[in-house]
Amino acid sequence: MDTLRFVQQAPRRVNGPRLNGWLAQFDAIGRTAGGINRVAYSEADLAGRTFTLGLFRDSGLTPRIDTLGNIIARVPGTQAGLAPILIGSHIDSVTDGGNYDGPVGSFAAIEVARSLREQGVTLRHPLDVVVWQNEEGGTVGSKGYIGELTEADLAKTARSGKTVREGIGIIGGNVARIGESVRKRGDVACYIELHIEQGGNLERGRRDIGVVQGIVGLRWFEVTITGFANHAGATPMDQRQDAMLAAAKFTVAVHDAVRAEPGRQVATVGRLTVSPNTTNVIPGQVVLTVDLRDLDQTKIDRLEARFKQLANEIGAATKTTFAFSVLTDSKPALSDERVMEWVEASAASLKASYNRMPSGAGHDAQEIAHIAPMGMIFIPSVGGISHSPKEFSRPEDIARGADVLLNAVLAADAGLR
Ligand SMILES: [Zn+2]
Repeated sequence: MDTLRFVQQAPRRVNGPRLNGWLAQFDAIGRTAGGINRVAYSEADLAGRTFTLGLFRDSGLTPRIDTLGNIIARVPGTQAGLAPILIGSHIDSVTDGGNYDGPVGSFAAIEVARSLREQGVTLRHPLDVVVWQNEEGGTVGSKGYIGELTEADLAKTARSGKTVREGIGIIGGNVARIGESVRKRGDVACYIELHIEQGGNLERGRRDIGVVQGIVGLRWFEVTITGFANHAGATPMDQRQDAMLAAAKFTVAVHDAVRAEPGRQVATVGRLTVSPNTTNVIPGQVVLTVDLRDLDQTKIDRLEARFKQLANEIGAATKTTFAFSVLTDSKPALSDERVMEWVEASAASLKASYNRMPSGAGHDAQEIAHIAPMGMIFIPSVGGISHSPKEFSRPEDIARGADVLLNAVLAADAGLR
């Protein structure tokens, strides 16, 4: 037996300064007094796409724009008949956002392909590098890629004021032929996306890398609490049906219920509409929203049941009634166990510290998880800040994240069958 075969190969590395140089140049595109404004289909988004197409070409890649408007380039593999390994992210931003949410993973994917070529490495699998269009407006490009984009999605108006339908034409897609870009299960060998964490867990835990276990499921409720509007001066305290008091008790109860068990589940009462919303009238009705998220669907179901039970108790105590309706319900998108192991092996080979964690924010990866084994790599966000001009990730963390992506791709290429 040749023992040398079992010696761990030294990890490969990307050109970190080059990658960070691209990000620094990109920072000037769509920069305004309020922050980065590269909202989908805007002039700045178009300028960003032109810049990114240039990076593809400078890196020896041949980018094409699919009918959905996604930018994709393929590096052929050595073995015939294999589905591609897909890597990438997005470059559009929110209003007054930062320069790291999306571009880090997009440019790192280009850099990984470039580094492999420069180091003379050809994968068995084709390598597809993708930049998804309009992630921030509802993962439009990736949702279209898995064939889930609806007429209602196309009719939606993006923050730039253009509809998605118009936008796809503006960026070089073709709405009449978006079906040609749809991929099914088996068409993609696996998908790996590098992204900033957008929270503060890695920084607090002093970890270099987050191995994402999945994107949490989300359920939004609208809760209507009905009491009785009456005179604030003439109605004794023990004879009130105060919907606001019930809403306050319910808000605290939701918070306590979520914190009463271990785990990373979160819930937020974020919007309150009080009526009549007047100083001298006891509130007769409150409509509030609850945003509930977790990686475990059964926990979401269980907490919903708990919230309803608490509402019944509070309703009885305050002489009000509660009615629940579901506004949005999206299921958790779980990462693939093997992809997580490849990311961990990659991080370990680079002597980077890591731990597994859920993603509380949505990503293109949650769409691709429907058709392919998916995994995500998180790097720290300084101060846990994102969707803000204060968003920042350190150059060394960005380079390390790209290194982890590079070696995870190599592990996937070797491990996939
Ligand atoms: Zn993002």
